[in-house]
Amino acid sequence: MLKKAIRNIILKCTAYLFNNRDSKVLFYHDVHCGAQYTEMSTTLKKFQKHIAAIHLLDFEIVADISKKTGQVKIQFDDGFKGVYDCIDFIKKHKIPIEIFIVTSWIGKEGYLSEKEIKELQGSNLIRFSSHTHTHPNLGEINENEIRDELSTSKRFLESITGEEVKSLCFPKGSFSNPVIEIAEELGYKEQYSSLPGSSHDLFQGKVVRRNLLQFASVSEVKSVLKGAHMIFNRKYLSRQFKR
Ligand SMILES: [Zn+2]
Repeated sequence: MLKKAIRNIILKCTAYLFNNRDSKVLFYHDVHCGAQYTEMSTTLKKFQKHIAAIHLLDFEIVADISKKTGQVKIQFDDGFKGVYDCIDFIKKHKIPIEIFIVTSWIGKEGYLSEKEIKELQGSNLIRFSSHTHTHPNLGEINENEIRDELSTSKRFLESITGEEVKSLCFPKGSFSNPVIEIAEELGYKEQYSSLPGSSHDLFQGKVVRRNLLQFASVSEVKSVLKGAHMIFNRKYLSRQFKR
């Protein structure tokens, strides 16, 4: 409890210091309104409060960020089923979402099936992108393995959705210079890390930053929208990026 309170105070101070309106990518793992498929899931009630806070601070939720300020993009990692269960809320508020799928997990217990992916795609709000084939730490495997993970998942997902898969998100945030190069070579146009910050502040000019909100209070969401998570940048960078 004390730790949480201290964290909140730190984030409020950082938000005050950074205080920007930069566009940002926000991410979650799942949202649940009935069955809960992962401990990383956010209750629909909390998610609704986050959406209200985003609107209150006058940010627009978009499928693709086109402006340096005032926009947010929402993503979910791993492809859990909760988004399917809660689709009515997402449709009602027209919230564009990008879901990163681990292709070898499709149809496993708690994860979206091929049929559900196609159904969600039909809503025109949900886009599906790659989160590799088996969810390894990309920064810790060899180049052949990286190539295999990225090409298999891209091909697999494209065969389900019938659309080009343009984005890749690194499992557990782990990546390296070879990962960035191989992803580009295989035709990925956007690469998403778990390094915090603003969307236009690309790491090495190539990798997009994202801010994890799954357990955030409304106060933390507001701080993050002002740039507060940047305070964790150095810590995440040393853990997640291997040259
Ligand atoms: Zn993941």
